[in-house]
Amino acid sequence: MILDDYQSPWRTEELDDLRAMTRTFLKKESVPHHARWAEQHSVDRDFWRQAGEAGLLCISIPEEYGGGGGSFAHEAVIMEEQARIADDAWANVVHSTIVAHYIATFGTEEQKQRWLPAMASGDLVGAIAMTEPTTGSDLQSIRTRAQRDGDEYVINGSKTFITNGTYCDLLIIVARTSDEKGGK
Ligand SMILES: Cc1cc2nc3c(=O)[nH]c(=O)nc-3n(C[C@H](O)[C@H](O)[C@H](O)COP(=O)(O)OP(=O)(O)OC[C@H]3O[C@@H](n4cnc5c(N)ncnc54)[C@H](O)[C@@H]3O)c2cc1C
Repeated sequence: MILDDYQSPWRTEELDDLRAMTRTFLKKESVPHHARWAEQHSVDRDFWRQAGEAGLLCISIPEEYGGGGGSFAHEAVIMEEQARIADDAWANVVHSTIVAHYIATFGTEEQKQRWLPAMASGDLVGAIAMTEPTTGSDLQSIRTRAQRDGDEYVINGSKTFITNGTYCDLLIIVARTSDEKGGK
């Protein structure tokens, strides 16, 4: 079967337009840089702002927070187009579909206003630190501690394999606040 002939049941005209725009954008702004990005172990920081300008960041976040007001289908179209050009360097999946949604779902109104528009423009790059040198799938075994000190948490621990970790501006850290709470 030729993939381009396959019609996903969730496909719409609007999603097809997004697909065409994403394809053109990635062909021009991503493909020519793949070899260099592989060598430097990261995409150019400016690429995030270009993607933000094109409307490809936080596309499933509500418009009131600077997002595209779309759904996971919009994110899936962008992921499919990224897979089509065999790019595994640009971690928009972590930024837009994981980190932004943690903030949109669990953040305070002040946090949403402060961070989501900047994530949608590419001025802030998001990452999430769960994995530790001794803990992967079994997240309840994490050792990193967050200890309350006045208005702040003091974080102690080690994290590894953090996508976007080398240059992120906003990092969600999974930490243990007390031994009694177990995995909570
Ligand atoms: C490309 C990449 C990007 C990543 N980005 C991030 C990131 O942004 N943030 C972050 O926090 N982490 C990130 N990780 C880490 C990732 O989340 C962990 O690798 C993952 O949780 C698995 O942990 P582990 O590697 O320690 O393997 P383990 O947990 O040690 O698992 C090893 C093997 O045992 C199997 N296994 C584990 N538990 C069970 C069980 N209970 N029953 C049966 N089988 C089991 C697993 O399926 C696997 O095959 C990334 C990893 C990769 C490869």
